[in-house]
Amino acid sequence: MAARIARVAVPVPLRRTFDFLIPSSAALAAPGMRVVVPFRRRRLIGVITEFTARSELRPERLKSIISVLDDQPVVPQTLQRVLQWAADYYHHPIGEVWQAALPVALRRGLALTPRLEPSYRITAAGLDRRLQALRRSPAKQRIVAAALAAGDACLTADQLEPLAASWRQIVKQLVHDGWLEPAVADDGVSLTRPGVARPQLNPAQRRAVSELVRIVGGYRCTVLFGITGSGKTEVYLHLVEEVLQRGRQVLVLVPEIGLTPQLIDRFRARFKAPLVVLHSALADGERHKAWWRARSGEASIVLGTRSAVFTPLAHPGAIIVDEEHDLSFKQQDGFRYHARDLAVYRARLEKVPVVLGSATPSLETLANIGVDRYARVSLPARTGGAELPSIHYLDMRRLPAQDGISKPLVDAIRARLESGEQSLLFLNRRGYAPVLFCTNCGWQAHCGRCDAKLTLHRSQGQLRCHHCAAMSSLPEACPECGGAALHDLGSGTQKIETTLTRLLPAARVLRIDRDSTRRKDALEQRLNEFNAGHADVLVGTQLLAKGHDFAKVTLVGVLNADQGLFSVDFRAMEHLCQQIIQVAGRAGRGEHQGEVLIQTMQPEHPYFALLRDHDYEGFAKLALAERKQAHCPPFAYFALLRAESTRAGAALEFLRQARGQAQELRANVRAPGVSIMDAVPSPMEKRAGRYRAQLLLSADQRSQLHALLSSWLPLLESSRSVRQVRWSVDVDPMEMY
Ligand code: ADP
Ligand code: ZN
Ligand code: ZN
Repeated sequence: MAARIARVAVPVPLRRTFDFLIPSSAALAAPGMRVVVPFRRRRLIGVITEFTARSELRPERLKSIISVLDDQPVVPQTLQRVLQWAADYYHHPIGEVWQAALPVALRRGLALTPRLEPSYRITAAGLDRRLQALRRSPAKQRIVAAALAAGDACLTADQLEPLAASWRQIVKQLVHDGWLEPAVADDGVSLTRPGVARPQLNPAQRRAVSELVRIVGGYRCTVLFGITGSGKTEVYLHLVEEVLQRGRQVLVLVPEIGLTPQLIDRFRARFKAPLVVLHSALADGERHKAWWRARSGEASIVLGTRSAVFTPLAHPGAIIVDEEHDLSFKQQDGFRYHARDLAVYRARLEKVPVVLGSATPSLETLANIGVDRYARVSLPARTGGAELPSIHYLDMRRLPAQDGISKPLVDAIRARLESGEQSLLFLNRRGYAPVLFCTNCGWQAHCGRCDAKLTLHRSQGQLRCHHCAAMSSLPEACPECGGAALHDLGSGTQKIETTLTRLLPAARVLRIDRDSTRRKDALEQRLNEFNAGHADVLVGTQLLAKGHDFAKVTLVGVLNADQGLFSVDFRAMEHLCQQIIQVAGRAGRGEHQGEVLIQTMQPEHPYFALLRDHDYEGFAKLALAERKQAHCPPFAYFALLRAESTRAGAALEFLRQARGQAQELRANVRAPGVSIMDAVPSPMEKRAGRYRAQLLLSADQRSQLHALLSSWLPLLESSRSVRQVRWSVDVDPMEMY
């Protein structure tokens, strides 16, 4: 007898599915289809995950599905399995996992297929005909002329619209008469643009490409470990070419679209194949269309940020994760998945190769190479024989400095000015100054809603909190004693910009941080401006550290390298070292050798000596040994339970109770190896008006940790004190606060 009960993932924060009867009108329902179901006096759109013959609910209590929205699963079965796995692994409600994976349009119940306007191009016959033949219809002439001008590209509805009001009618006739044809994705011609200059691969690149191409058609995870400027992108492009030739699609995940315009341009320039870009700034309709073009197989290349890992593909051929070490692949709220790790799991299920590229692979990834779970190919040298920059440390305990810029650094910038070269300065702190205080009474500007100081934004005359949205105008006198002795301390990017302009009046200084690039395209504009030589010095935050090519930069200054040295986060040193290697990678990409000057209070730190020789692997070896000794990832598995409440103490109390439960459960579920730390206030206890606390679990065996989480979290979900707090679980947390 056929099963008659459907398990449905409903968008509610509960770690379970719900059972519904399948009415006879919904006989064709299948897993992966969206359904409307009655849920607590509401109607919700959920997705069928499976069928079952028996429910825990008594038959008379079961409700029926109201309607089925699809006649096919919204995503292929393999991807359904990835989502299920992600819900299990991250212990996140399956209904919310589906929410995260589907475009908004589908969550709202719109048709699976978006309304797509076809696009048109000139036919081969049309190319040979004379435009004169259309002289009796100026509208036709305009449209054909535009198609001729577009060449290989196609005219979209948006482009046709302004050419003639009744363009649909006219295009139809032109198609009928053989002038135009609707564009189709695969017309048998080469997907690579003819005539684009492709550099001759160097031997290391050739080896890398042949290693990667060899495995197309089956699963393997390969780490492309290439130093900055070694030509990783060129290797990706060759792999993509091979995959496209086999009629398959490539999924490319990148850290942040805004930061990788150059990468997108290079893909666009190389391939004629349809490419879609998925990122957070897309409007709902646009996203739905792009998603659909990936799902239908029409788009050959799908390029996107973190959530693009959930994009369905009709013919998956390979997955590329660029800058795999980047923190932005980890979602930091709600459904806290790691897109890189999901990409690897997905590739395995899809039986396609996955490539993780980086000059500074994460320690997790290096450990996976160590145990032969991932393969590795290396690009050990820069292309075109360019040398890596020399790295020097400036001891800030001894050197004279102004507003955080030491004299040797200023001198080095001046020297570049005189020789017409460019400099980059990094500082992980935006605003003018991180502290405003009164020299009379000691008052400091604090945020009322966070345990944090307010940052001075001088040009706006404001104090801003960088942890919540709080903003106030700069007080003229001390709010405490009324004195006028307010002073600022420390430097942000704005102050550095001002100071440099004062010290080097001839220098044209440009600043890039979140404040200066709020406007759409502002980042790209400023980068172009700098690359075109309209500025001598670029001051910026780590926004700049990612993947950009600056041909004329020969000096990189790192202003406050010490932040990572004093952090509570065990990954802070890893991130600091990655950043130093990455920013050093921006220097000396042209013909002149680059120089990197790093200001620090601890030039003798052992890691720094390794970085001086660009020995990231040496650093990684040392750091991995320390992690092993400290029982930290990747040698142990962590889960962090976080809680917050507007009531002081409530979150901590909730976690203490939760901890008690976990300790009791530990024996029952045979997870004696799980260590349960004390519940503690978070490092910044109050943020945006909420009091926060956390509880860390750790285990040497992943299975034990998961066994405990599986039976513990449902208990927390139904616990009574849960109403006072918001809580969440973070499996493999990347930030420990
Ligand atoms: P990475 O991504 O490893 O930092 P890129 O792929 O951006 O490096 O390559 C750095 C520069 O070298 C780019 O301008 C690229 O066009 C160029 N390039 C790549 N491969 C070669 C090659 N084999 N010969 C010459 N130039 C190359
Ligand atoms: Zn005062
Ligand atoms: Zn705040």
